[in-house]
Amino acid sequence: MSDIPLVDLQAAHAEVADEVRAGFEAVLAGGAYIKGPEVGAFEREFAAFCGVGHAVGTANGTDALELALRALDLAPGGRVVLPANTFVATAEAVVRAGLTPVLVDVDEEHLLIDVERAAEEIGRAVAVVPVHLNGQLAPMERVLEAAGGVPVVEDGAQSQGAARHGRPSGSWGRISATSFYPGKNLGAYGDAGAVVTDDAELAAAVRLIGDHGSARKYLHERFGFNSRMDTLQAVVLRSKLRRLPAWNESRRAAAERYDKLLGGLEGVTLPRTAPGNEHVWHLYAVRVERDRDGVLAELQQAGIGAGVHYPVPVHLQPAFRQLGHAEGAFPVTERAAGQLLTLPLFPQLTEGQQVRVAETLAAAVRRR
Ligand SMILES: *Cc1c(COP(=O)(O)O)cnc(C)c1O
Repeated sequence: MSDIPLVDLQAAHAEVADEVRAGFEAVLAGGAYIKGPEVGAFEREFAAFCGVGHAVGTANGTDALELALRALDLAPGGRVVLPANTFVATAEAVVRAGLTPVLVDVDEEHLLIDVERAAEEIGRAVAVVPVHLNGQLAPMERVLEAAGGVPVVEDGAQSQGAARHGRPSGSWGRISATSFYPGKNLGAYGDAGAVVTDDAELAAAVRLIGDHGSARKYLHERFGFNSRMDTLQAVVLRSKLRRLPAWNESRRAAAERYDKLLGGLEGVTLPRTAPGNEHVWHLYAVRVERDRDGVLAELQQAGIGAGVHYPVPVHLQPAFRQLGHAEGAFPVTERAAGQLLTLPLFPQLTEGQQVRVAETLAAAVRRR
């Protein structure tokens, strides 16, 4: 039997291959490889998709977060509240922007930022960065209420096309960042990212900082760095963006099939959608009560590309030792890190593949 990958990027490519090839030919013939009209067109299309006025392409999602924070001109060293259960990049961007990460635990059911915990920190904070984990939005109306006047920066790297109460990812915060890393719901053929906002001045600041602080060649108005989107990536992203709503719909259908196939399996807790959320299932992660690592190894031996997001939480990473957190600091996040198991999920995943994943998982779990 053939392997079932965690994500099948070739299957997605097959759907856009002709368009992408034609677009690449045009760019290669034109000779403009950074920014250019393709990037401008993608920025307009992606801003409209997010329901905001402006999008700025960046080199990757981590830079997008850093640029969003830098554009806000926050007090140097200021405290930024973010969930402990996230990819390391969220915390990295805070540090790179010259700010101080303040981690808070997540809620047990959805593993999204615990708003009560966040509220305790917001009085001393300069910004809040909720993370829309695995494809569903943090409880944004509660985050915004708790934040009061403190700016909210969404980390929407895992939530392109998701919405909450009908309002899209990227349209809730003062400014938001996303990633087009190849494995994301909207993935480039290399690194890329974007900042989205309704605020024209913030968008202009992001553009400036991400282009050496320069709007006019060789005049550098403010200190910046280099984080621009490649023209070839914009070709891929424009083509894929047109298919994203249908792809997200296929992900939802696949998640529902997993729910049916795995419902009632003892020792396994299925992921839940928070009320009000339109989930886009970047990841379908179950929780395995007993011997997650053994179950993971069995799946992998059977050719099933299951994974763990994330095995070691940010606060226990050697690189974040300076935050001073010991084991036990964020119990919900730590327990989840020991139990989570991500199953293959991508728009082209077939029912037959899902049946095989479910049967292999069930057998592995029952043996324990
Ligand atoms: C992928 C990801 C990022 C970083 O994106 P890159 O494009 O890889 O730099 C940031 N935050 C979260 C939650 C992510 O999943």
